[in-house]
Amino acid sequence: MADEQKECIFCQIVEGKIPAIKIYEDERSLAFADINPLADGHTLVIPKTHTETLWEITPGDLAAVHQACQKVARGMKEALKAPGITVIQLNGAAANQVVMHYHVHLVPRDRGKDKLKVLEWEAKPGNMRTIEKLAKKITEAI
Ligand code: AMP
Ligand code: ZN
Repeated sequence: MADEQKECIFCQIVEGKIPAIKIYEDERSLAFADINPLADGHTLVIPKTHTETLWEITPGDLAAVHQACQKVARGMKEALKAPGITVIQLNGAAANQVVMHYHVHLVPRDRGKDKLKVLEWEAKPGNMRTIEKLAKKITEAI
């Protein structure tokens, strides 16, 4: 096992070496409570296999993790009566990813009650020429 995996806290959670409050698991994915919740019920969903980012995760793990996200989201809606759920997924230190093991944040939301301004932003119209130019550049790279 690579050193980065040995030191990865989420791999250690998968292996049962450090505790976590588990919410759901299947063969490929695990959901557990975030210990610094942005809101009540904040949950993380991860692949059991170590991988860092959206551009590295295998299609199979990606599908499994996001299907697990849907199960957890449905559970949150029912159990917490969450009117909304925000999904956050950070990739790379430049995007403020702190734990370098792919994870999806599911944050139950009740806008107006929870005051989580960090999850809201003001819409400012962009420059359409720049938007089109960058969109074309990305498309050409796919
Ligand atoms: P980020 O990498 O910025 O997307 O976020 C990492 C998240 O992992 C943070 O929200 C932390 O609160 C959470 N976290 C870190 N260590 C643990 C742990 N041992 N158990 C549960 N959540 C954790
Ligand atoms: Zn890991």
